[in-house]
Amino acid sequence: MRQLSERTAGFTDSVIRRMTRISNQYQAVNLSQGFPDFDPPREILDRLAQTAHEDFHQYSITWGAQNFREALADKQSALMGRKIDPNSEIVVTCGSTEAMMAAMMTVTNPGDRVIVFSPFYENYGADAILSGAEPIYVNLYPPAFQFRPEELEAAFARKPKALILCNPSNPCGKVFTREELELIGTLAEKYDAYVITDEVYEHIVYAPHEHIYFASLPGMWERTISCSSLSKTYSITGWRLGYIIAPAQIVDAAKKVHDFLTVGAAAPLQEAVIPGLRFPQSYYDGLREKYTHKRDLFLNGLDEIGLPHTNPQGAYYVLLDIGEFGCESDLAFCEALAEKVGVGAVPGSSFFREPVNNLIRLHFAKKDETLFEALDRLHDIRKKMS
Ligand code: GLN
Repeated sequence: MRQLSERTAGFTDSVIRRMTRISNQYQAVNLSQGFPDFDPPREILDRLAQTAHEDFHQYSITWGAQNFREALADKQSALMGRKIDPNSEIVVTCGSTEAMMAAMMTVTNPGDRVIVFSPFYENYGADAILSGAEPIYVNLYPPAFQFRPEELEAAFARKPKALILCNPSNPCGKVFTREELELIGTLAEKYDAYVITDEVYEHIVYAPHEHIYFASLPGMWERTISCSSLSKTYSITGWRLGYIIAPAQIVDAAKKVHDFLTVGAAAPLQEAVIPGLRFPQSYYDGLREKYTHKRDLFLNGLDEIGLPHTNPQGAYYVLLDIGEFGCESDLAFCEALAEKVGVGAVPGSSFFREPVNNLIRLHFAKKDETLFEALDRLHDIRKKMS
């Protein structure tokens, strides 16, 4: 038989998703793939039950149901500080995974370069391979995960077509400051590059940090493709509802990519989530409080065990330093952790361009009782992993 495509030979399966399967195999508390184990808001679930008996069972308009786009445009217009046109400036996608892929395919030609900050969410590597783009990695340096302006400018000087900005950032928890975003904007303008954002954690930010939408910076709307999703905001990762917001001529092209990739996101689910899109500010304040509580609970627990970790400013991940265990492979460490300790984690090497082997990623988007159980199991990690 002839060989399959070089495209697929170029990457493995997602290690994040693989770790969920491994966690399940060992009945580990799964803190690997980032998704909650608590319920979505009741208003959304009630509406979901009703939609089963209403007329939402056929395709919606390919770029998103009218009701959904209007509710989304209202919500995001208020946040992003400009009136977003639901008809010409939004494409609804199957999760932000499709949004990012569609954005990459809309902006880049094979051979184009894209800047990716490292550490990065592992999908961006695959997005680059699938679209034929070449990543240029720019390091974020701990503990605050700042970039060095001269390194970023050197990357821009290689004439990338776009920069990918995950803000708040998975896995390092960085929330970019206004100054940092403005610097990225100045360079994007100087070197005429697009900025593709992944802002799925836009509502999960810890005080005193604040999320600033890149598209809302002066002059940046024209060159920004904002991608996000409803997964984390309404605890519905399985619904696969995401979107692109961008100027009309970009959205026009993205609509075509999306149409031929997936036709559209699930019609009943778009309808069911509308009460969520219409929630008042108090819902988002509550979400922030809830995650601040979970972050504090989990990080305090890790401190008691004495495991060194990052301090996220946003999103719901923490990187743990496992250097003291002297393991050769972080992947093997995570497999052993699931088996012997009963906690699922993602090997840090999935997120770095450089050979990093001393970090693992855990997330805390779980019920308190689940987090307590995980901490309980982690208590004698040294004994169990020796
Ligand atoms: N963003 C989540 C993570 O990093 C999961 C995303 C996914 O699996 N689609 O774990």
